Amino acid sequence: MAVKTMEDLFVNELRDIYHAEKQLIRALPKMRKAAGSEELKQCFEQHLEETRGQAERLEQVFELLDLTKRTKRCEAMEGLIAEGQDVIDEVEDPDVRDAGLIVAAQKIEHYEISGYGSLATMAQQFGYKDAGKLLEQTLAEEKATDQKLNQLALGRVNPQAQSRASK
Ligand code: FE
Ligand code: FE
Ligand code: FE
Repeated sequence: MAVKTMEDLFVNELRDIYHAEKQLIRALPKMRKAAGSEELKQCFEQHLEETRGQAERLEQVFELLDLTKRTKRCEAMEGLIAEGQDVIDEVEDPDVRDAGLIVAAQKIEHYEISGYGSLATMAQQFGYKDAGKLLEQTLAEEKATDQKLNQLALGRVNPQAQSRASK
């Protein structure tokens, strides 16, 4: 799709993040499986459920704005997920692997936070009230997930990994 106007840009970004969420629905079960800590597994499980809802919210946005539900290849998320897969493939120590999975997951959340933040701002500018609310809801979930991952890293996973390294 040729991007000429701000509206085109908005639609393009919507389709990009839609592809990002679709990729995550496939990647999060692998991250959950690779996690050693029960808390981290639960965090990925909960966010998988949320992510399914986020994809549905985007479908609602497409419907509200009378747009074709379509994805645009999100290369950034492909790369971020590939980095998560590298952690799974390369890190043997379970505590260090959990710490690496949290880094990868936080990078993913930060990408999503940027995408939804921009989309919510644009929706507001265009006066797309209902679509804007849906985007804000997802933005709040991504931020909460980032915070939760941060707490897991600070509270448990990283100190354990560190004690192992210093042995
Ligand atoms: Fe998401
Ligand atoms: Fe993207
Ligand atoms: Fe997310």
